[in-house]
Amino acid sequence: MADLAASVGADHVLPGDGADLSAYTVDQRRRYRGRAWAVVSPGGTDEVAAVLRLAHAQRVPVVPQGGNTSLVGGAVPDDSGRALLLSLRRLNRIRGVDADNRTLTAEAGVILQTAQQAAEAAGLLLPLSLAAEGSCTLGGNLASNAGGVQVLRYGNARELCLGLEVVTPAGEVWDGLRGLRKDNSGYDLRDLYIGSEGTLGVITAAVLRLHPRPRTVLTALASCAGLDDALALFERLQARSGGALTAFEVMNPQALALVAHHRPGDWPAGLGPAGAARGWTVLLELSDPREAGPAQARFEALLAEALGAIPGLGDLHPAQSLAQARAFWRLREAIPHAQAADGLNIKHDIALPVSRLPAFVAAADAAVRALCPGARPVTFGHVGDGNLHHNVMAPPGVAPADFLAANEAHVNRVVYDCVEAHGGTISAEHGIGQLKREALQRHQSPVALALMRRLKAALDPEGLMNPGRVL
Ligand code: ZN
Repeated sequence: MADLAASVGADHVLPGDGADLSAYTVDQRRRYRGRAWAVVSPGGTDEVAAVLRLAHAQRVPVVPQGGNTSLVGGAVPDDSGRALLLSLRRLNRIRGVDADNRTLTAEAGVILQTAQQAAEAAGLLLPLSLAAEGSCTLGGNLASNAGGVQVLRYGNARELCLGLEVVTPAGEVWDGLRGLRKDNSGYDLRDLYIGSEGTLGVITAAVLRLHPRPRTVLTALASCAGLDDALALFERLQARSGGALTAFEVMNPQALALVAHHRPGDWPAGLGPAGAARGWTVLLELSDPREAGPAQARFEALLAEALGAIPGLGDLHPAQSLAQARAFWRLREAIPHAQAADGLNIKHDIALPVSRLPAFVAAADAAVRALCPGARPVTFGHVGDGNLHHNVMAPPGVAPADFLAANEAHVNRVVYDCVEAHGGTISAEHGIGQLKREALQRHQSPVALALMRRLKAALDPEGLMNPGRVL
């Protein structure tokens, strides 16, 4: 403890047996409650390296943490009380924006929204955008290869990262902070650390790729009889807009019913009565290099043509103002809050080939209903990326905690078997963490798992980095 205090300053070390550390040791969904030997908050890369050298010398496990917003228990310690919790929050400097190279260099503890604002101040766009953007940090975004609502156009965190600075478990610093679009000089270490969930080393800084800001952003809500109609609309708009769709989200009727019940204030005016029977609802966003007037006219013409061509398409609501566009997004963003208000549910963050989504949803919902009559699948997400949040809520009248305790393992099994049968993945954008470790063993190929174990053994031979996660 004295060595840690000497490395980072006594003010930045909190002993595990002292003050309340639950802000660090309990995860955001309150499923995992761990204990830490100590919480240490270094103020720079050199201090992170010093802490890791100490931990390495004394064989102390290290759990890196940014904004503590993991949805899979990826950033809280286990309950042994042995691990050192390494908070990256004090590494919060934007090191620079290179507008001509369209890059931003920032430290791991910078809040995503702060980085977005720094890009905006330079007249550019950092398109990584997700629900936790006001509190999640760049290091965690990269360590979990976060997705979000603009992946369709701009890619995951991985596609937005050009360079990394990483501290190894032994405390060496790899400076890979180069803003290069092309770099074939050996194995790609950057891509190895992105998505490694803190199990191979600690990301301390990154060079992020910025994009031009779109001149006009157009938003609409559409209702569709079925998911296949939503996909027909997706294909049509992709083809006829020259790939200008930036988001294409769906919400099933149960998801909207939850919002109507728990968050009626988030129901957009002009969309009919909250909770009225409707099929799948699409929230779509398209960017256009033209001025608002001509862009909106072209947008509405595109939508009107789609209405004539796709029989299952119902009402279409192109947003008439920025305020209305925001109201449409609030409806989508209200779903996780409405779910939380309703109680615990069984969550699946999955991806499938877009072409297989309707067949998957039909098969998975039938399997869940056969297993748990009355259970309510709440399905929404980034359908343009093939990524669904397929969550299962308790039947009405059944206590959510009891439902989870009795059924979670069985429901996961039938849903993930269905995902595998349709060529999908059990983790699309949230990672593996603790929550999906067993499922990974079952659904990832044995050869892939063996290669992952060899990588882990080579880069973290003592097994000190974020133990019990991923593998
Ligand atoms: Zn998502």
